[in-house]
Amino acid sequence: MAVHSLHAADEHEWQLRVDLAAAFRLAVHFDWHESVGNHFSAAVSEDGKTFLLNPRWQHFSAIRASDLLLLHAEDKETMERENAPDPSAWCIHGSVHAAVPHARVLLHCHPPYATALCGLKDPSLKPIDQNTARFFNRCAIDLDFGGMADEAEEGRRIARAFGNHSIMMMGNHGVSVAGETVAKAFEDLYFLERAAKTMVLAYSTGQPLNVMDDTLAEKTAAAWDDYAGAADAHFEQLKQMLDRTDPTYRD
Ligand SMILES: [Zn+2]
Repeated sequence: MAVHSLHAADEHEWQLRVDLAAAFRLAVHFDWHESVGNHFSAAVSEDGKTFLLNPRWQHFSAIRASDLLLLHAEDKETMERENAPDPSAWCIHGSVHAAVPHARVLLHCHPPYATALCGLKDPSLKPIDQNTARFFNRCAIDLDFGGMADEAEEGRRIARAFGNHSIMMMGNHGVSVAGETVAKAFEDLYFLERAAKTMVLAYSTGQPLNVMDDTLAEKTAAAWDDYAGAADAHFEQLKQMLDRTDPTYRD
């Protein structure tokens, strides 16, 4: 029995590794990556304190399932190790996994359109179409950027800023998306960047935005719940796309 459950735990961790590795490759496909920075993580243990994270300065296009670091949020030696993670990644993901139980998976990056919005005085997504309305009242906005997240306090501040939300527009910085599974977090990140692109394009016309009233925006946002299953279908088919071109993310 013990052997069986150990095997199941290994199997679970491996599946997480494969999905997270796929998310890195797909971030390149969608042009959300930036040099060798940014970071995605996934909690392995029930309390979220043991989690997988990408190795420091490895290009997203080359990340394999076996490359992901297995870390513990309370391991004070982590940053002393030879294969220590990126300091900013350690601060953000260690703090969020330890403090935000619903953040089983945490994707943090600087995708171009969402990051452009985060550079505005008001980075909020206005409900002007179905994709922007998806985030109506469902997005934390952090306007207290404290510089590069390389201090423990900045990590804890980011964890608090999530509140009970799963999606955060980080002013002067980028975005963080938390989710129950890699597929669900990835889908939210996908639609967040799509919605931000629509906002930036709409703003760029200089014409007034036709913002939905709160009732219509809420109705539209709630209607997205009927499409929750699309996250798994989309992610599965994106993995099949990777399998056709470069399946090494599974290694
Ligand atoms: Zn960042």
